[in-house]
Amino acid sequence: MQLILTPEQAARPELLRKAIAAELGVAETRIADYRIVRKSVDARSRLPKILLTVDAFIDRPASELHYEKPDYRNVEHAEPVIIVGAGPAGLFAALQLLEKGLKPVILERGKDVGERKKDIAILNRNQGFQPESNYCFGEGGAGTFSDGKLFSRSKKRGNIQRILELFHFHGAADTILYEAHPHIGSDKLPQIIRNMRQTILEHGGEIHFNTRVSEILLHEDTVSGCRTADGETYTARNLILATGHSAHDIYSILHAAGIQLEAKGFAMGVRVEHPQKLIDSIQYHSKQRDPYLPAASYSLVTQVNGRGVYSFCMCPGGHIVPAGSGEEQIVVNGMSASQRNSPYANSGIVVEIRPEDVPADFQQYGALAGLHFQQHVEKLAYKNNGGKGLAAPAQRLADFVSGRLSPDLPACSYLPGLISSPLHFWLPDMIGKRLQQGFRDFDHKMHGYLTNQAVVVGVESRSSSPVRIPRDPETRQHIRIKGLYPCGEGAGYAGGITSSAMDGILSALAINP
Ligand SMILES: Cc1cc2nc3c(=O)[nH]c(=O)nc-3n(C[C@H](O)[C@H](O)[C@H](O)COP(=O)(O)OP(=O)(O)OC[C@H]3O[C@@H](n4cnc5c(N)ncnc54)[C@H](O)[C@@H]3O)c2cc1C
Repeated sequence: MQLILTPEQAARPELLRKAIAAELGVAETRIADYRIVRKSVDARSRLPKILLTVDAFIDRPASELHYEKPDYRNVEHAEPVIIVGAGPAGLFAALQLLEKGLKPVILERGKDVGERKKDIAILNRNQGFQPESNYCFGEGGAGTFSDGKLFSRSKKRGNIQRILELFHFHGAADTILYEAHPHIGSDKLPQIIRNMRQTILEHGGEIHFNTRVSEILLHEDTVSGCRTADGETYTARNLILATGHSAHDIYSILHAAGIQLEAKGFAMGVRVEHPQKLIDSIQYHSKQRDPYLPAASYSLVTQVNGRGVYSFCMCPGGHIVPAGSGEEQIVVNGMSASQRNSPYANSGIVVEIRPEDVPADFQQYGALAGLHFQQHVEKLAYKNNGGKGLAAPAQRLADFVSGRLSPDLPACSYLPGLISSPLHFWLPDMIGKRLQQGFRDFDHKMHGYLTNQAVVVGVESRSSSPVRIPRDPETRQHIRIKGLYPCGEGAGYAGGITSSAMDGILSALAINP
């Protein structure tokens, strides 16, 4: 049954029940239960509406939540498959291997999620950076302290609903099964990741933390295992490489070993933060957000001089976080807690960069040219942060667009602090100039968006990988190395949690015992 409701009707169970009864023309007492199947916000008109698809149960109890529970087998003595990296790609590959009857052996350079949380608290206070334990590295990968938005632009990749079901099976709220834009939140993700670890260990899989893979072992052109930085050797015929796009060392290791890589398009830019109230008032057409409506979000895209400029990973009610993975680099990203209740709305605004756009100085690095350019821009941000650790260079948005230094900066969610800096001056023109025009275009789409109440923070450089590890589309193995399964965002085949998780599942399915 489809219902079009006010936000209050949709949020309050007693009103929703009334609406269901009225729609069905039955007495309210006969509605024994109901289940929301789909929920979205339609904010096109002055009075935003909630669109609900509901299953109602008349005179009978609700049926069980209907999705197929995973059938995990005991794999203690089964053939091992090495998985390098415990991000969404690695974890979902491991879960799929359990269903297949193969033994996942996960090697993860970072710490378990509990220990990692402590390092992240120190990072947020700008009191020290741990190269192996940060927003990128550690159990759950870049996905753990992320926003936890679970939607994918691409529906072609596979059964996205299955990913949501597996998150739900491991403890995520029912809402992710029916919200049009499902979201978990960085406060809930760590427990879900722990539950996944529990599943893997209980069924005989292995997870080794603080274990950085430093070499892939080959016998001729076939994988035989890997060696860790501590000199330990793990043996297996199949290895899923799910190291994410921040593990730059892995690309260098593969490159040095003569394993073929390819340059691919990527994107870089800044993160912009507005007061959430301002975004609410633009998107919901009113000064005050209805208390039953969620913090408003947006999605923007334009073309400037033949390249896309677009919003990326928009976090309503969120925080900007330091998401670098090395010393002397400033990288920012965004996240939000499940309630999305911070007073700020942030989003990456990035410019598409094709391999041929990478400046000539970097082309000497071949397939790694984009990676070196990315590192250069991250270093530029570091050089412009006044030597203050993880403080990020920033500028008021209208000042950035008109090329003026900001004498002061607005309050911002970025905990390590901001330093006023002329980003319009030091960002490479191909990025900075396009961003300036992009923000002007966005103001036409969302009047009031281009304002000095907003701040741009540098740099948003890790929205996608500049490198691809080529693989056969059928076997999903590297085009030359048998038994090597490049997978997830770092291999250049995914972007975001759900698509990385999907890629992990498909790679695991491709492995034959
Ligand atoms: C702050 C933040 C917010 C984000 N918000 C969202 C969001 O809301 N929605 C969304 O879809 N995406 C979001 N993302 C992106 C998302 O997290 C990534 O797309 C996703 O995690 C990629 O999954 P992956 O498994 O391919 O790689 P990763 O998650 O990067 O995992 C790779 C893992 O491999 C490990 N590793 C690397 N090298 C080695 C090695 N040599 N040996 C052993 N282990 C190694 C790393 O420590 C890491 O744990 C966010 C990212 C960040 C940083």
